[in-house]
Amino acid sequence: MMVLTKKMIEIRSILQKVGQSSSLTLPSIVVIGSQSSGKSSVLEAIVGHEFLPKGNNMVTRRPIELTLVNTPDSPEEYGEFPDLGLRKISDFSSIQRTLTELNLAVSDAECVSHDPIHLTIYSRNVPDLSLIDLPGYIQVVGQNQPLQLKQKISELCDKYIQPPNVILAISAADVDLANSAALRASRRVDPRGERTIGVITKMDLVDPARGATILNDPQYPLRLGYVGVVSKAPTSQGLFKMGSSDLLSTIAKNENSFFSSHPLEFGPDAGVNVGTINLRKTLMRVLEQTMSSSLQSTSDAIRQELEEATYEFKVQYNDRPLSAESYLAESLDAFKHSFKQFTEEFGRPEMHELLKSELDQKVLDLLASRYWNKPVTDLAPAKYDLDNIADLPKADPDSLYWRRQLDASTSALTKLGVGRLATTVIASSLQAHVDKLLTNSSFVSHPFAKKAIVEAASTILNERFYSTSDQVENCIKPFKFDIEIDEREWNHGREHVGSVLKKELQDCEAALASLEPAVGGRRKLKEVMAFIDKARKGDITVEGDGRSGAGGFSAALLSKGREAIFLRDRADIIKMRMLAVKAKQCNNPKNKYYCPEVFLDAAATKLASTAVLFLNVELLSEFYYNFPRELDLRLGRHLSADEVEKFAKEDPKIRRHLDVIRKKELLELVLEKMDSLRQLEGRDREQGANG
Ligand code: GDP
Repeated sequence: MMVLTKKMIEIRSILQKVGQSSSLTLPSIVVIGSQSSGKSSVLEAIVGHEFLPKGNNMVTRRPIELTLVNTPDSPEEYGEFPDLGLRKISDFSSIQRTLTELNLAVSDAECVSHDPIHLTIYSRNVPDLSLIDLPGYIQVVGQNQPLQLKQKISELCDKYIQPPNVILAISAADVDLANSAALRASRRVDPRGERTIGVITKMDLVDPARGATILNDPQYPLRLGYVGVVSKAPTSQGLFKMGSSDLLSTIAKNENSFFSSHPLEFGPDAGVNVGTINLRKTLMRVLEQTMSSSLQSTSDAIRQELEEATYEFKVQYNDRPLSAESYLAESLDAFKHSFKQFTEEFGRPEMHELLKSELDQKVLDLLASRYWNKPVTDLAPAKYDLDNIADLPKADPDSLYWRRQLDASTSALTKLGVGRLATTVIASSLQAHVDKLLTNSSFVSHPFAKKAIVEAASTILNERFYSTSDQVENCIKPFKFDIEIDEREWNHGREHVGSVLKKELQDCEAALASLEPAVGGRRKLKEVMAFIDKARKGDITVEGDGRSGAGGFSAALLSKGREAIFLRDRADIIKMRMLAVKAKQCNNPKNKYYCPEVFLDAAATKLASTAVLFLNVELLSEFYYNFPRELDLRLGRHLSADEVEKFAKEDPKIRRHLDVIRKKELLELVLEKMDSLRQLEGRDREQGANG
């Protein structure tokens, strides 16, 4: 029938995608022989090209799983290394180079590797065959080779010469067959000689009569017989480059003239099998038969593998269908949905709150620098402090000093770059929210998609940044000249700043408390603070500036003490100001010079409200509109199938799920093919029996 091998080779390439499983290996022809027995020459003659690594330095170090595919309708001849993604190499010397590199990549120390090289050759001049070339058996271990090399090669060969594989045992005619490593190995695993083909090379090197005896009267009889060959192309032709596809015909011609010149020994009546063409036919026939007889057991193995995959799919994945595309689409939809939800929760009020609390901090900084700060820089008596606050002008609305203080503070507030600040605050908050949504989405285990999403957000935000920031700055411009606060705004500010001050007081007290353990306890802190207080009042004199230690305290301790005093005084001032804000004199905007805290808070609210109006139009709405579109662009339809697959498989859970489904589908496909092959076979056999 001779189509079985072809079909089985197709099936094998599908099975290879499922993943190597020894129960699923289809029969191949395994080529074994001692070094220099002519193994490569035989293989190259069959393929019709020189393509195997050559050299003295043990150049075959990995199994080469060679698949020959007959392509009768195409004049093209080429090889492919599917594992390397190398396709359609028409230059056979380039195939040879690649094989040499792959083999020599195995180090001298390791010398052989079990990891096979897959090579497929397509040509109309090759039969459908699957052959495995293995490192040659060696007699003596070379100088730079590991001692256990012989053992290693033998183990590797043993792995491959198991059933259902056919063994092609190569021996040279000029070496006593009793010494043939190939036949010895084959005999061990196939003692009855049922699946071994004997090849005797170098028939030209022995006397024809002796050659015929070797073929006719072997000590190790083989059901599939021996074939004698002369697989070396005659040297005279080697001088000019042969059209390499002629290799087989050159060899065949040479063999023909050799064998036909000894008709007695090798002629039709001699009962021996000779010639590479004959060998090729034998290989095809034997492989076809072997494939045929292993159809049943292979089908069974595949069916069992399929059952296991089906079971796993059911138990682990609840029979839930999944594809890389559907997974990506669902993940994207879910993410966009969560984003939509976020857009409903994050609007003007939320932006206002964020921005206002940022401005609250700025207001506190201004209050501190303009109103509250009292330097505690050295141990000399303070120029002023809480006790001699009377040094300051009286808090009188008409006092120029206080007017200037408030005007300067207001001006600093409006000119601090509200546009930039507001845009930064909102943009980083949006980016942070996207990050958070990502963390809670299925994209969290997909670095590629995560990066795409983060970039989608930052691209839009960056594009809008400058114009938004300018717009906001522009629209708060009038406030740089004048800020009118009405009664309602004042009252609101008064209430709000009360809570800001309260929070600041808590922070201050917490910071003070945290100093205690740092200096070795509350008592110690109290002591050093008392010392500094006394020094500042001038009650005691301190030599030098106290920076190198004073009063029995180390410099570090004194520095902590100063920090504590600063915090204590700050807390005192804040308490005082909290009372002031609540007091009657702060109950209306006319008294703003008494109450800079209230005024600045109300001013900050005005700035925030105005900024938010523009942020909403310029940044937020734009972002909400464009972000989902940008996501579609980056993760949507324009991704290639490979990219989608790569994305989905980034998540190990999804990868396993997809692998099981794919395995199941491929096995189902293979089984279907096998079943129809078996039916074909059955019909053929019936016809054969009837006819
Ligand atoms: P391998 O090490 O088993 O792959 O052996 P090669 O195919 O490289 O052959 C070893 C040497 O034997 C090479 O120099 C070949 O040219 C030579 N050789 C192979 N087959 C024959 C043959 O049938 N007759 C002769 N005379 N030489 C051969």
